[in-house]
Amino acid sequence: MPFNETYGINAFGDSVMRDRLPKAIYKELKSVQEGECELTMAVAEVVANAMKDWAIEKGATHYTHWFQPMTGLTAEKHDSFISPTADGRAILEFSGKELLQGEPDASSFPSGGLRATFEARGYTAWDVTSPAYLSQDGNCKTLVIPTAFVGYHGEALDKKTPLLRSMQAVNDQALRVLRALGNTNSRRVVSSVGPEQEYFLVDERYFAERQDLSLAGRTVFGAMPPKGQEMEDHYFGKIPERVSAFMTEVNEELWKLGIPSKTQHNEVAPNQFELAPIYGISNVATDQNYIVMMTLKKVARHHGLVCLLHEKPYRGVNGSGKHNNWSLATDDGINLMNPGKTPGENLQFLLFVSAVLDAVDTYAPLLRLSAANTGNDHRLGANEAPPAIISIFLGEQLSDIFEGIATGKPVPSQEGHKLELGVNTLPKLPQDLTDRNRTSPFAFTGNKFEFRMVPSSESIAGPNFTLNTVVAEVLSQFADRLEKAKDITACVKEIVVETWKKHGRVVFNGNGYTEEWVKEAAKRGLPNLTSSVEAWPYFGKEDSVRIFTRHKVFTKEEIHARLDIVLEKYSKQINIEAGIAYEMAMRQILPACADYAADLSAQVQSIEGAGAKCESLRKRLGEILVLMEDATGIAGRLEAARQKAKAEGEPLAQAKAYRDSVFAAMETLRAPIDRLEKLLPKDAWPMPTYEDLLFKM
Ligand code: ADP
Ligand code: MG
Repeated sequence: MPFNETYGINAFGDSVMRDRLPKAIYKELKSVQEGECELTMAVAEVVANAMKDWAIEKGATHYTHWFQPMTGLTAEKHDSFISPTADGRAILEFSGKELLQGEPDASSFPSGGLRATFEARGYTAWDVTSPAYLSQDGNCKTLVIPTAFVGYHGEALDKKTPLLRSMQAVNDQALRVLRALGNTNSRRVVSSVGPEQEYFLVDERYFAERQDLSLAGRTVFGAMPPKGQEMEDHYFGKIPERVSAFMTEVNEELWKLGIPSKTQHNEVAPNQFELAPIYGISNVATDQNYIVMMTLKKVARHHGLVCLLHEKPYRGVNGSGKHNNWSLATDDGINLMNPGKTPGENLQFLLFVSAVLDAVDTYAPLLRLSAANTGNDHRLGANEAPPAIISIFLGEQLSDIFEGIATGKPVPSQEGHKLELGVNTLPKLPQDLTDRNRTSPFAFTGNKFEFRMVPSSESIAGPNFTLNTVVAEVLSQFADRLEKAKDITACVKEIVVETWKKHGRVVFNGNGYTEEWVKEAAKRGLPNLTSSVEAWPYFGKEDSVRIFTRHKVFTKEEIHARLDIVLEKYSKQINIEAGIAYEMAMRQILPACADYAADLSAQVQSIEGAGAKCESLRKRLGEILVLMEDATGIAGRLEAARQKAKAEGEPLAQAKAYRDSVFAAMETLRAPIDRLEKLLPKDAWPMPTYEDLLFKM
């Protein structure tokens, strides 16, 4: 079958629903999806039945509510459709109630103290807007129903609930602004996201032989081979055949699920790749990004590969992130971030961009922490990914327009001019309104903003509920003014000018990787939160609590619970990594070094016994023994620091202890170990090296 004909066959999407549901039910479900009415049990009953029939025809035996607890992973509990009858046979059942609501035991998921273990009740509630789908693992086919996960009193225990709430908030406030501007047609404003997913592939044989990779997803030791990424020969290079076969299978699976996987290419680091789907509504795109991550991991195994989603699997080459392309659009097709041909005259566009400028500047720490995780600490602020300082790239032309309006100077012509390529046979290319700037953490890219700090392994829910909420807050302030204004045009201009004067400092079009920018940003008063542990506490601060509660994205209790969860997760991760580093050093690397040192000293004895000199061997032996002593000492201190941090009771103090003493000791231990790797013969080193991991495929 041509692949476009199998597109979406494993999703219970719009076309399947139109085909299989009675017209009236389909219409009512559409209204529910658009937030115009509430779902009734009668509708759920019919939909459940249609879903069950569809899934069973496709070979499904089970269904599951699928949710996104605070572990950062997804969770599922499978129930079979089987229902035994009194006469010893079985019928297949799936009720409206089972579709609407599930009740997993919530006590084993992190709640940050929101609930005690004995209060086990948690509920999963069907997210009507995200299509159910069929998943296949081996022979088992399961109907998967995307859901939100809440506690007994409705407290959010997952990543989806706040995202859905934030979408509501930004819809409400953006609509107020649009109404004030005279728009009476648009009924909804939706936030859209297109996440570009970076990942590494590694041969599963090598993966299995590295305790650090298989238990923590990243290497804690590893010396760089003579070649790294300096030749710039991997980015956009020819995709290796084995990887190509893997990508083909990934695409086939995703397309069948109706996930519009669109682009794929080699990334900057060796054995690093990227996949990007076409953008969609935030919550659906978030669900789909989870499915993309799971599919990459699953399909890699079919090809003898392992997919690494960690932000920094290897030191010395680029890490992975996600570019979160974000925009707001109305249900009748107006992209509010689209400048049009003459952005200088497009007041609506300037107003919405102003809202983003204000929101990103005012709430920079919140955006920064929305992209914080243990893995990203190796990237943000280190010299590769965007810096830890939040700034916006607008491009010269747009910056000039804002500057011109703010200072009352005439705005230069905004029509994108044609680029001359100097070769007659090549077409003249229209120049984009903005050039690319790869170093900016938050870049305007034509008709959307690209938030580039987002960690590769994490759900994109956090960055998006944060973006939606901070922008909703500023839009609400704009709406307050516009609703009272006598002269709307004058009021919009006033807001644009004020915003530029007050928040123009967040705009930076230069190279974000330089030391000068760090200094310049400090002068401008922009925060530089270089680690997760520094960033997270801002979540619990007054400003944050005020806006998240005001827009009903979180309660104060939910915020504090979440803060404890991320801090505890950080501590646990560093604890595991440190444990691995200690074990690898003491149980694999140092014993191998001792064996080699013994061999070496036997060689020295026998050579000298024969009356010859072997100064270089003696020297090497000496060097190895010193490094071994050194490493053993540091490993001991690392283990002691780990035990001490583990005993710390308060989450923030504990996370700090892990960062300042445990993580620091791990870094110190790495130096002698990596040096030892270079001194031992390749076959004496007890695990695959960076050369195997990065260059063999
Ligand atoms: P690149 O950043 O490599 O230039 P693209 O321009 O193709 O890549 O877009 C990257 C992602 O942005 C894709 O997922 C694309 O669908 C998404 N995207 C495009 N337009 C929008 C938009 N208006 N809102 C959100 N995402 C968008
Ligand atoms: Mg991009």
